[in-house]
Amino acid sequence: MSDLRDLYQEVIIDHNRNPRNFAKLDNSTHEAEGFNPLCGDKLKLYLIIKNNIIEKINFEGSGCAISTASASLMTEHLLGKTVEEAEKIFKLFHDFMITDISTVSTDLGKLKVLAGVREYPARVKCATLAWHTLEAALHQQKIPVSTE
Ligand code: ZN
Repeated sequence: MSDLRDLYQEVIIDHNRNPRNFAKLDNSTHEAEGFNPLCGDKLKLYLIIKNNIIEKINFEGSGCAISTASASLMTEHLLGKTVEEAEKIFKLFHDFMITDISTVSTDLGKLKVLAGVREYPARVKCATLAWHTLEAALHQQKIPVSTE
């Protein structure tokens, strides 16, 4: 188990140091901003959705290691998915992080590395910030998302 934990930590450290899809997009079709005042995490999410497919998903911002790694993992995981698939994965991830600790879906793939965060309830908001921002972007919500 501790080996697995080390592996999880390695993935989070890697995604924090070298975030994937970390750049502004000028031609996004959907975007939203999210804040986590509790920790000071801020991010902006940009998507290009064509024919219901997420063709591009980028983010920029500044935050703690957990929020950056989570956003990076999310963009990597959702690239090429349909909007419906993204909504389904959001719900699975949300359940996994908050509601039902026993939820483990194979659909979550590498996102499971964030499991360790559940032991620190204050940090769960860091891990879910990108996802709440995604929801806002998909629903074209103009008001920035706040976890508080
Ligand atoms: Zn944070």
